[in-house]
Amino acid sequence: MTLKIPFDNSYARLPDAFFARQPPVPVRAPRMIAFNDDLAKLLRISPGDVEDMAEAFAGNSIPEGAEPIAQLYSGHQFGQYNPQLGDGRAVLLGETVGTDGVRRDIQLKGSGPTPFSRRGDGRAWLGPVLREYVISEAMHALGIPTTRALAAVETGETVFREGPMPGAVLTRVASSHLRVGTFQVFAARGQMDSLKRLTDYAIARHYPKAEGPMGLLRSVRDAQAGLIARWMSVGFIHGVMNTDNCSIAGETIDYGPCAFMDTYHPNTVYSSIDRMGRYAYSNQPDIAVWNLAQLATSLIQQMDDKEAAVEEATEIVHAMPDLLQQNWLSRFRAKIGLATADKGDQELITDLLKRMAEGQADFTNTFRALGGGTARDQFLDPAAFDTWEKDWRARLAREAAPQEVMAAANPAFIPRNHRIEQMIQAAVQGDYAPFDRLNAVLARPYEDQGDAEDLRRPPAENEVVHATFCG
Ligand code: AMP
Ligand code: MG
Ligand code: MG
Repeated sequence: MTLKIPFDNSYARLPDAFFARQPPVPVRAPRMIAFNDDLAKLLRISPGDVEDMAEAFAGNSIPEGAEPIAQLYSGHQFGQYNPQLGDGRAVLLGETVGTDGVRRDIQLKGSGPTPFSRRGDGRAWLGPVLREYVISEAMHALGIPTTRALAAVETGETVFREGPMPGAVLTRVASSHLRVGTFQVFAARGQMDSLKRLTDYAIARHYPKAEGPMGLLRSVRDAQAGLIARWMSVGFIHGVMNTDNCSIAGETIDYGPCAFMDTYHPNTVYSSIDRMGRYAYSNQPDIAVWNLAQLATSLIQQMDDKEAAVEEATEIVHAMPDLLQQNWLSRFRAKIGLATADKGDQELITDLLKRMAEGQADFTNTFRALGGGTARDQFLDPAAFDTWEKDWRARLAREAAPQEVMAAANPAFIPRNHRIEQMIQAAVQGDYAPFDRLNAVLARPYEDQGDAEDLRRPPAENEVVHATFCG
């Protein structure tokens, strides 16, 4: 094989209880859709012939050094504990240590059934694969910690969802696939040796300075608080913040029914399976705290002095709302051009958001337009913006370089739902031009791109995406 991946696997060295050895299941006719050259360089991968790559990233051939495994985990789904989930349609090929010294997982998603598939077919269709490719790479370009997309291939097979769909496999790259649910499964089963082993592994891999299980809990809390504030600041709604989709490394993981908001409203939900709005935009900080509490509950099980551990864990979890709030405030300060802190800032920001909700303002375009002085056009009643603007201008007078602060905090380009849907529809017809164009434009989200103005436009009435699906 001409493709060379310098695998250096650590998870496959852990005890058998952590995973099932499972090769990807070959597909009929692999065809390369996309390969991320920049990411490949970071991972120290030497790309080979396109045919070899299609075979490898479809799972038809196993690159030298790969040790394919399906990882075990459990998790709370919409608040209900499911004792066994695990990789039902993914296999971890192995890990590489990148040119930056960071160890990362290389995983095939949609690679066939595993012992954890339950009733699923182990496959993915083209739509969600392209969706995750574009959105995860867009998140990376926005500066938000995330899993990444290394490759996408068509399988030449049909996957049945709402109807027959073309099958595809995504190659996903993550700092690790450790989730809150990875801890939960061993804690719930009372497997203390495995729980301790996992805790040591997570500390060594992600937070080498953290001391013990409670040090790990604190580190995950800080990473998650930073992450969720970043989501909020770009109008991102994850859609399925189940504990199995909550990364220990603090990366955005599992792009299912996620979406970026167009019109701002705090209660926005897109996911077709989130009927109660548990994972609505403005609930995300509370859910992150809830998820951390589940991690705390699991980590405590291994402590000798349980009473002291409960006390410490409680203190750590209870500090998270404040931490989220501080992160949120510093992100939104930047969005309105503030580099310094003032007592009235929080109120100034929430006042703007309230007017945006009432005025049905586009989240991304309103903030981007603040710098250019055209934000009032985004409001149903522009006068509602004008009264806020007076207060804001008074506050801005004490700032040195608000324009630069805003330009770096407010993207011009986000992956809008209707553009993602249009891109998928084109790809199903064999036209990958919209996919390529979205990737190119979204790679530079903070730059004005004159030839891409159409990608800044919110959806017309007939383009609005009302619901997103898991795929
Ligand atoms: P998710 O909602 O994507 O986080 O997935 C929850 C669980 O369902 C995980 O254990 C997945 O591996 C599994 N799963 C999702 N889709 C499939 C599928 N098509 N086949 C098998 N397992 C799946
Ligand atoms: Mg998942
Ligand atoms: Mg998923």
